[in-house]
Amino acid sequence: MTNRKNKLIKIVKLVFLITMIITCFASSTYANPTSERNNKEVDSVVLKTNMFNPDTATQEYLSKLTPEQKSKSDAYFEGGYWLLFWNMVYDVLIAWIFLSLGLSRWIKKLALKTKNINIQNLIYVGCYTLLVFLMILPFDIYANFFREHQYGLSNLTFGNWFTEKMVSFCIKLIIESIIIMLLYVALRKVKQNWWIWGGIISIVFMTGIILIAPIFIGPLFNKYTPLPENKLKEEILSIARANGVPTNQIYQYDNSKQTNAISANVSGLGSTTRISLNDNLLNTCTPAEIKSVVAHEMGHYLLNHGYKMIVFFGMIILFGLVLINWSFKKIINLRGCKWQIADISDISGLPLLMILFSLYMFMLTPIRNDIMLQKEVEADLFALNAAREPDGFAAAVMKTSDYRKVDPGYWEEIIFYDHPSIKSRISSAMRWKAENLDDEAK
Ligand SMILES: [Zn+2]
Repeated sequence: MTNRKNKLIKIVKLVFLITMIITCFASSTYANPTSERNNKEVDSVVLKTNMFNPDTATQEYLSKLTPEQKSKSDAYFEGGYWLLFWNMVYDVLIAWIFLSLGLSRWIKKLALKTKNINIQNLIYVGCYTLLVFLMILPFDIYANFFREHQYGLSNLTFGNWFTEKMVSFCIKLIIESIIIMLLYVALRKVKQNWWIWGGIISIVFMTGIILIAPIFIGPLFNKYTPLPENKLKEEILSIARANGVPTNQIYQYDNSKQTNAISANVSGLGSTTRISLNDNLLNTCTPAEIKSVVAHEMGHYLLNHGYKMIVFFGMIILFGLVLINWSFKKIINLRGCKWQIADISDISGLPLLMILFSLYMFMLTPIRNDIMLQKEVEADLFALNAAREPDGFAAAVMKTSDYRKVDPGYWEEIIFYDHPSIKSRISSAMRWKAENLDDEAK
């Protein structure tokens, strides 16, 4: 019986490994319509058939940025690569403080004053999450407040920024405590196969958060009001009807109190589906730009990107938990006595579980980015076909150059980009214009 069970587990692990490899391979070899090679092939056809040149049109858009604006945007985006690295170093340092300096043992001792093991675990998770929050706060303040102000991207005062930080910390504390408590129930009850239950718990919460966050968490930070009746609203609803977005509800929200970035989303399910536009989009963009941005968001919604992400990230988490299960046991054999961690179901090993998960996600950065980037390419093409406003699309994309590097190197785009680069997106829009609009419309 045990042999059959072990064989079954090995088969499930093998299936996950193969699925992951196929997923990664499929996503990285996906025929990215914005690739240079494809562009050249199509452009040569376009040039033969009419006078509009997508390359020249793309360059015209890119040349609207002054050298100072471009170098500022490059510096901001490239600084983000270092933030990723230093964030990881910070995480390792925090894990070392908890494990080697005995902070984890001290919290466990505190939690053991209660009798129920689930309450003990909840107390541990609460203390751990609060201490990690406090330890990472200086880095957080630099990366997400001072640096954002340095580049003119945030409109929040420190007081308002900190208040929002505390609200999101409270939400994180509640969700994280429940997930980790359930994970340790699985670790105690099912032992060997805990990672299957760990994966299921993560997927259930991920689904809940993706579906609920924009409707219930969004209003905690911003005020949502119905968009007044006007021509723009009718045009957006017309695109929604033509493509099957089941809603006639459009909201605007006061995002300008936080940022200068333009943004929109289509959220909810069935009768709760709604379209939301931030006030920056409404106040700084033309109707053609607004329709392109909203059509992009409709693309994400109608192409079920949210659900596809849950499947991809669910698999990534499941595979990660298998690796963590294996590496945790190896490390505990070496350091378990020193750190006083009995086994993987011992809550004082939580900092080790967390750092192994962080390292795993850090290593997967290019794969995670690539999966998201492919979804963005699909939504861009949907937007071009649905709104039929390639210049509106290109102009809206140019507005993201404040915080996205315009023209990255090949490997830079593969490793760090979760959206296509600005150059790729505009090039894609201009090629669409060359092939899909008649001469008068160009
Ligand atoms: Zn998108």
